[in-house]
Amino acid sequence: MRNGEVSFWWQARGGFPPRRPSLPGPLEADVCIVGGGYTGLWTAYYLAGLRPSLRIVVLEAAFAGYGASGRNGGWVTAELPGSRARYARAPSGVEGVRALGAALRATVDEIGRVCSVESIDCDFVKGGRLSVATTPTQLTRLRAELAEIRERGDGNDVYEFLSGDETRARVNVTGALGGLYAPASARVQPAALAAGIAAAAERRGVEIYEATPASAIEPAGPGGAGAVARTKFGDVRAGCVLRCTEGYTAALPGQRRALLPMNSHMIVTEPLPSAAWQEIGWDGCETVSDEAHSYMYAQRTADGRIALGGRGVPYRFASAIDHLGMTDPSTVTELTGVLRRLFPAAASAPIAHAWCGVLGVPRDWCATVTYNPRSRLGWAGGYTGHGVAAANLAGRTLADLVIGEPTELAALPWVGHRSRTWEPEPARWAGVQGLYALYRLADQLESPAADGAGGAGGAGGAGGARVWLGEALGRVGDAISGIPH
Ligand SMILES: Cc1cc2nc3c(=O)[nH]c(=O)nc-3n(C[C@H](O)[C@H](O)[C@H](O)COP(=O)(O)OP(=O)(O)OC[C@H]3O[C@@H](n4cnc5c(N)ncnc54)[C@H](O)[C@@H]3O)c2cc1C
Repeated sequence: MRNGEVSFWWQARGGFPPRRPSLPGPLEADVCIVGGGYTGLWTAYYLAGLRPSLRIVVLEAAFAGYGASGRNGGWVTAELPGSRARYARAPSGVEGVRALGAALRATVDEIGRVCSVESIDCDFVKGGRLSVATTPTQLTRLRAELAEIRERGDGNDVYEFLSGDETRARVNVTGALGGLYAPASARVQPAALAAGIAAAAERRGVEIYEATPASAIEPAGPGGAGAVARTKFGDVRAGCVLRCTEGYTAALPGQRRALLPMNSHMIVTEPLPSAAWQEIGWDGCETVSDEAHSYMYAQRTADGRIALGGRGVPYRFASAIDHLGMTDPSTVTELTGVLRRLFPAAASAPIAHAWCGVLGVPRDWCATVTYNPRSRLGWAGGYTGHGVAAANLAGRTLADLVIGEPTELAALPWVGHRSRTWEPEPARWAGVQGLYALYRLADQLESPAADGAGGAGGAGGAGGARVWLGEALGRVGDAISGIPH
């Protein structure tokens, strides 16, 4: 099994991409974007489309798509990156949250459109998203979620409830008791998407400098001097500087407690034999997750593998970052166990590769797109694991904000959203470790396997008490962390 090497997705493309040059020296630009992931690349792509005359420079510490954008689960999902209630506190209220949801759903099609017009071959298939309940308690949560969805007026075109049989007819997840199907979701090969956006931005005249970490970002001075991104090769002075570093943000001066770098880990099998696929189904290439507190997410890859991810080690002390995506053996064992439990037909398939990466989590779990025309600084991120579609919408929004004309996107409630900072260490580390220990315990207690009497849904008795405790612990975890569900 390969481990690390950034991700399977890059290695499946034949290894790391050819390196672009580093910043040749100090330069002046109209727009300087720090970070060459989806957020930075989409922002550059759309800005260059809106104002072809702008000199737009992207500074990337490693290579375009090195971060989460080249490592993720490939879910282009319209899932809201944050809490509806918290976004509804913006002046646009509940209507604003509805608009954000609709914009995210439209974003899935926008990504498909750009892939088509820019000939980005990234295995884009809009097969929808299937969230599967595999325990009675997960089913209760799913039904509660559905009730909330209906209450706010969203119908089957947004989320459709599937019975256990209907769920298994799509994807034969063992023990599926029901599912929630959302049509607005696509599957992609993440690194291919990142490479494709970078190339499309370059065709529009964007300059991408790799192996060029920004050591500091400074606001515009008085008297009209631009903002600055400092690097060891020289400064980039620009009309504005946009920080698009999501999970890596903590390493920048002044940002240590802004976004918590949360780990997510993945494994991928070798291609499954056709007999296994006959057993599993999954012909629609839906993105699939379960309803556990410490949930798993999965996709069927274009070459017939299962790629599956989950939390594993959630966070490293003092916001430390993985080394090239190397994953610890216990997480690989844990994810392999989940894979084999949910997809027994894939139980004998060897695990080909494991890797991990970081995503940015704000203290209130709500993403932000922001630009200050006085300091000439902007940033977007904090998508809490739902960043593939959100980064496209954020990029289009940042482009509008920089240009400064009022648009529908610039009025969305995540624009200018502020979250408080994370607690200092060691409280931050202890809090995240404690939270995920709690979630793991809650999942175990809710699981039928934990009930020797043969089913967590059994009425009363020790099994019933255990399930009740599991649910209660999950709710305590949600209340402490502020994680929206
Ligand atoms: C394993 C994993 C699975 C995930 N699965 C999904 C999924 O299926 N669906 C989903 O919606 N979301 C998923 N996410 C989250 C999603 O991938 C991210 O939210 C999204 O890619 C963030 O894009 P970004 O451009 O903001 O950040 P990144 O892609 O992390 O890009 C930031 C870039 O900035 C660079 N950088 C950092 N510091 C500096 C600096 N000082 N100077 C210059 N450059 C710098 C980094 O090298 C990096 O390339 C997942 C994340 C992970 C880690």
